Amino acid sequence: MKKVLLDPKSYGVSLSSWLSGYGGKGLKKAISDPQSIVPIIKDAGLRGLGGSGFPTYKKWQFVCDQKANPDKYLICNGNEDEPGTFKDAFLLTNTPHQVVEGALITALANNINKIIFYINPEQTQSIESMRIAIEQWQKNELYSKFEKKLAVPVFMQVLESSGHYIGGEETAAIEWVEGKFPFPRGKPPFPAISGVHGCPTLINNIETIANVSHIVRNGAKWFQELGRGTSSGNKLFCLSGDVLNPGVYELPMGTTLSELIFTHGGGMLLSKKLKAVFTGGVSSTILTPKDLDVSLDFDSVYERGSSLGTGAMIVVSEGTGIVKRVTEYVNFYAHSSCGQCPPCKTGTYYVSQLLNKIDTGRATIVDLDSLINLSKILPGSGRCHLIDGAMKIVDSSLEHFNEEYRSSLIS
Ligand code: SF4
Repeated sequence: MKKVLLDPKSYGVSLSSWLSGYGGKGLKKAISDPQSIVPIIKDAGLRGLGGSGFPTYKKWQFVCDQKANPDKYLICNGNEDEPGTFKDAFLLTNTPHQVVEGALITALANNINKIIFYINPEQTQSIESMRIAIEQWQKNELYSKFEKKLAVPVFMQVLESSGHYIGGEETAAIEWVEGKFPFPRGKPPFPAISGVHGCPTLINNIETIANVSHIVRNGAKWFQELGRGTSSGNKLFCLSGDVLNPGVYELPMGTTLSELIFTHGGGMLLSKKLKAVFTGGVSSTILTPKDLDVSLDFDSVYERGSSLGTGAMIVVSEGTGIVKRVTEYVNFYAHSSCGQCPPCKTGTYYVSQLLNKIDTGRATIVDLDSLINLSKILPGSGRCHLIDGAMKIVDSSLEHFNEEYRSSLIS
């Protein structure tokens, strides 16, 4: 399969160069017929690319249907903080205008007048790039036409997130935008009904937003045909770990894991054998060499018991201790827990302690049994999915690498 590179015309932060290429055409089309945008996105089959895979048009429709409130918010979520995921930072830094244009079209489709680019504070280049891009757009004639069509003044800003992993959760992002600590909220109410300051709020991942202008410009069929089955379009894959060429790869949905690692990624570092792949950030079931033929699309990865998630693929070679790796990731989750839900606050901490004990050869079979029990009972006990993700990699590593756990125990 041919490697598809990001559109080179979108590189850089000059709006004039963006508009002299493919840029602006999607927005012009949207301005001429705003009612057509949601049906195009629906037919294209665009899905949430921040990990959910939820149909984008459905999320939009909930917000579209809210007519009573004069203010509506769009949060373009670029908080990405999980290990192995770095695609949104890439887009924000290198292709800011396609992100802004996608956001403007999204705002037009949903009658949104407040647009917030919510970016991880560690991504200083992304923040700078987006600030420059916004300034350029606000001085542009096309932007004036957009505002005129919306018939209300539009507020658009870059907002640095708190930098916490949990701040990427939708309701946590809303809390932060309101000036509070990003504690995830209970649902309902859902953000589409009552989000920022009680206003209808749409939250889309940066990669999802970046696709919008291209879909509107080229049509639904074009996007559908790029992908596979119910996973339309291309996807950004963050390839990292023990591969020769780690990086962000834009490839059609349905590219196999083998092609990603061995064709595009150049193969395994030091020609070692593949041992495992942590997929979709580190919150999903681990893939193993028998899954190399899996098509990287939502359904096919799900059928293998895992999920595409953010598109992050962390490659692990033979000789790497899985228990050590899982310990590092669960430590990350334990530190990221916001502490609202006791099972998450104490559970992730206790699990990370057990893993540390096993990894350092200080554990007995009783500790391993406790770990197994906790990995079964903790999922579903939190307000958000943090604890579920943490337990998924524990459970999955216990299934695939049980012998490694047992060989670390005190006999
Ligand atoms: Fe916070 Fe954990 Fe509860 Fe999520 S599950 S709200 S991170 S305590």
